[in-house]
Amino acid sequence: MSDLPAIFFQQYFEVGPPMVILQAKAPEFKILAANPAFLKITGTAITHMEGKSLWDAFPANPEESGTSNRDIIEDSLLMTIKTKTAQVLRGVRHDIPLTGTDKFDKRYWQFASSPVMDGAGEVTSLIYNVSDITEAFFNANRQEIELALNEQNNDQLQRQFMRAPIGMVFINRDGYSIDYINQAMRRLWNRGLTENLIGQSVFEVIPELEQQGYHAIFDEVLATGRAFKVQETPLQYKRTDRVKTFYLDLSIEPLYDTFDHIYGAVGFAVDVTDKVLSRGRLQAIIDEKKLVEDELRHNEERLVQILETMAEGVGIIDANGKLTYANPMAQKILGLHESEILGNNFGERKWKNFRTDGSPLPDEEHPMAIMMKTGQPVYDHEIAVQPPDRERFYISINAAPIRDNKNKIVAGIATFMDVTARRKIVEQKDEFISVASHELKTPLTSLKLSMQLLSKLFDTNPTSPQVAVFIAKANNNLSRLVHLTEDLMNISKIDNGKLPLKKARFNLFKLAHDCCEYLTGDDAHAVVIEGEPGLQVYADEQRIDQVIVNFVNNAVKYAPESKKIILKVQQLADCAMLSVQDFGIGIPAEKVPHLFERYYRVNETGIQFSGLGLGLYISAEIIERHGGQIGVNSDPGNGSTFWFTLPIS
Ligand code: ADP
Repeated sequence: MSDLPAIFFQQYFEVGPPMVILQAKAPEFKILAANPAFLKITGTAITHMEGKSLWDAFPANPEESGTSNRDIIEDSLLMTIKTKTAQVLRGVRHDIPLTGTDKFDKRYWQFASSPVMDGAGEVTSLIYNVSDITEAFFNANRQEIELALNEQNNDQLQRQFMRAPIGMVFINRDGYSIDYINQAMRRLWNRGLTENLIGQSVFEVIPELEQQGYHAIFDEVLATGRAFKVQETPLQYKRTDRVKTFYLDLSIEPLYDTFDHIYGAVGFAVDVTDKVLSRGRLQAIIDEKKLVEDELRHNEERLVQILETMAEGVGIIDANGKLTYANPMAQKILGLHESEILGNNFGERKWKNFRTDGSPLPDEEHPMAIMMKTGQPVYDHEIAVQPPDRERFYISINAAPIRDNKNKIVAGIATFMDVTARRKIVEQKDEFISVASHELKTPLTSLKLSMQLLSKLFDTNPTSPQVAVFIAKANNNLSRLVHLTEDLMNISKIDNGKLPLKKARFNLFKLAHDCCEYLTGDDAHAVVIEGEPGLQVYADEQRIDQVIVNFVNNAVKYAPESKKIILKVQQLADCAMLSVQDFGIGIPAEKVPHLFERYYRVNETGIQFSGLGLGLYISAEIIERHGGQIGVNSDPGNGSTFWFTLPIS
């Protein structure tokens, strides 16, 4: 203190504004003296201070990280020494420790350092005036100061902020004016770096924000302090030539001043338009794919529906010959359940395949195998199938390969139908032709022989009794021929729908009698006619005659051992009934349902009976056309009773 002028010490120092005298020696800046006013405003006891370094007396607030102003203060002190002129620092923050606690009091200061020189003009000490401007600081335009301070201290941060890839804009609640905007945000708004946006209302710069409700959103953030965050929100605004929709990740967060008041908001924006649009395009592709898939599924369902209801059997095999699909008809025809078919090789099955000539069908000759081997479709290939528990049946198969887009056969499809009935008719027709030619040939040959013998006798012995025998034989054969020809003609008449009925009333009993006349005189047969002699019917007498004759002829033919034949003529409730009973070979029950079919012949016994298998078929046609019924009761080995009914009127 001795270096200081006494007047200064007494008058100025003791009563002056807060000041401290520092030794002008860096870096300690030892405290030489502190006046009462200084002690008062810093709230620190002098005993703690004198002789201490300025930095030890006023340690930095550890919470004030990054904002310690020691460097600034030190610079200013050094500048005072160097330039020997007073230096002023305003608005420097330096927190003061609160006595008795580990807390600090947030303070802003104005520092003025003045040099005190010795006689040689050397700076020996510094008078350091301090004034606490905390209040003034906060009362003044805080934001400006703060921003200015930040600008001073956070150049680095500033640069980062400016270059951040996220658009940022600081908006002041006062007039929604833009305090700060970085480059990324300018790009989003398509505003050049030189265009002055600071101080302008954000809603004037981008009027679309207001139209799309952001004014209210902004006010809400300011009022509640709750951040507003949305992702991929559409925003329509004019970035370049016209209004377009952009998609943005947006957040608007409140900005607080040092008194925790919201003084504005910071808006962050990231343009995700490309991402959203490309996802939209992807979604469109997915949607379209789904549509196509739906269509395909629909088509497939339709196809399956068709396959399921088809009258033909459909089977699909894979490239290895494994059956992968069989429609219900296929299952019905093959007599198998789907579970038995799927996975089965068409070569390994319960049933056996045969050629149509009855010989076993080798697997490689199966139409499916032929088609898979040659790659060519196979049409109408008939095979016989023998299931383990049913009668053999015939199927006609169409088979075609299924190829992939490289033309490789990946599967085979076959459609088939049961052609047993068709085949039976063909077989019956073939048999019929051979039987018919045989049936015609026998009486013809016999007739020819009789005629030759007759002509010989006529030359040699015309009065011989043999003449009458041969004439009778010839007549017999001739009537057989006439009979056969009539049957054939009747068949063709039935086929052409030309079997006209000439109905009239007649006595059925009498007709039955007439029909057997040729047998009643015959010793070999015992014909009994029972029933109601007066029974009248309204029918075509000639046709009914034909039916009765057929019954009686069969009774004679199929009962070679027994000569007894009983004809019964009865009146039932609403019809007349005629039956012809014989005591011959009878008919097995399972054959009965087929008796009235065309060309059907039983031929069980091994005994060959001549005939075309047409008589009963023609009889059934005649009776049915009269509205009557026809049938048979038979006991194999003991005979049969054939019957028909006719309406009485
Ligand atoms: P066919 O000319 O062969 O006799 P039908 O149509 O009259 O033709 O008879 C059909 C088949 O019915 C005969 O082949 C025979 O096997 C059987 N049949 C007909 N009548 C009798 C019967 N009374 N007793 C046994 N079998 C009969």
